[in-house]
Amino acid sequence: MSELLVTGGQVLRPDMTIERADVLVSQDSGDIVAVDQPGTLDGDDELDASDGLVIPGLVNAHTHVAMTLLRGLADDKPLDAWLQEDVWPVEAELTAEDIRAGAELGLVEMIRSGTTALSDMYFEVEEIADTVDQAGMRAVLGFTAVTVGKDDEAARSDLRESLDVARKLDGAADGRVRTTFQPHSLTTVGEEYLSEFVPKALDDDLSIHLHANETRDEVTPIVDEHGQRPLAYADDIGLLDGDTYVAHGVHVDDSEIDLLAETGTGVAHCPASNMKLASGMAPVQDLLDAGVTVGIGTDGAASNNDLDMFDEMRDAAMIGKLAADDASAVDASTVVEMATANGAALLGFDSGRIETGANADLAVIDLDAPHLTPAHDLVSHLAYAVHGSDVRHTVCDGEVLMRDRTVEVFDEQAVRERASDHAAALVERAGD
Ligand SMILES: [Zn+2]
Repeated sequence: MSELLVTGGQVLRPDMTIERADVLVSQDSGDIVAVDQPGTLDGDDELDASDGLVIPGLVNAHTHVAMTLLRGLADDKPLDAWLQEDVWPVEAELTAEDIRAGAELGLVEMIRSGTTALSDMYFEVEEIADTVDQAGMRAVLGFTAVTVGKDDEAARSDLRESLDVARKLDGAADGRVRTTFQPHSLTTVGEEYLSEFVPKALDDDLSIHLHANETRDEVTPIVDEHGQRPLAYADDIGLLDGDTYVAHGVHVDDSEIDLLAETGTGVAHCPASNMKLASGMAPVQDLLDAGVTVGIGTDGAASNNDLDMFDEMRDAAMIGKLAADDASAVDASTVVEMATANGAALLGFDSGRIETGANADLAVIDLDAPHLTPAHDLVSHLAYAVHGSDVRHTVCDGEVLMRDRTVEVFDEQAVRERASDHAAALVERAGD
């Protein structure tokens, strides 16, 4: 029996209060076994949390982790042009080795900034699952199916692969990898394919993760063609369900917010990506008020351009206030909850809270910094002042992924060099 004691710090509790406490985790079960007064618990190994704040590991509810290879390749364009002119031509050249190199880089970046779980949409998913296994993190993965621009055979093969990957990889990495069926979006997968394959996914009890209502250009064609709002169309197909979550949900009207709430469908809010691509402002406070579970995602590094969930929390608070025209909307404790407990709920992991019995997924923030002084309110700091680089230790499933700012699960220098080499070769191939 091996136990790790996180000692000497303050702890963020599930009710958003802060207390001085030690946290004992079991490395056998991967669970938190006790949260108690300082000096009352013993472990076989210790992590020093003095001058620190212990928080649940952050949950990145929507990303494309291997897209780190495209970071900074093309910026300052709207979604449509950016995808068609820049992203898709490069992605067409991606090999399995490229995706592994990009995923390793993204996971190192996440570990360094206190993220312990992610929900990913991409392809070559076995490579990503293998990398997540090595990283010691938790992830919900899937193969993203697109049918536009493909003949019937290729379209069906994409959707079949999304089902097959979800069935095959669920439970990988000792249960730390779960899966979703992933139609890319309501405009990039044809109705006949959604109608045929969504029931198959539901029959298999698979969760579903798709992009929806990201831009106005995704709403108008569906209204024109089907005479109904995108999420009403999605609901008729059976896509909205308690195990479904949609990425973005920017352009949703009141009837669609009600539909999300009624069906238990969650939303992965991606504020930085929505701002950078000028997609719009998601009505996050309205979604929360209606009872929709809203998590936070970075989206891919190409549209963000980092995977730092602290940046994302601040962005979510800022844009949430603008969207509501109300400075009290999407407040500090709400965004912290979105990035922890809500994200874990969307992904279906028993994480996102420092409590006995929960998964031992946590990060320790170093509070000994000028930008975190004074310490009137540490929840405010988490939402508005902490940076990913303030994370001192990261733990997932009871295992130490980063200790004293040194990543223990990868050779970080080698990962960075490999990713740089793959990115350079990839862009060169795509330019030929
Ligand atoms: Zn996305």
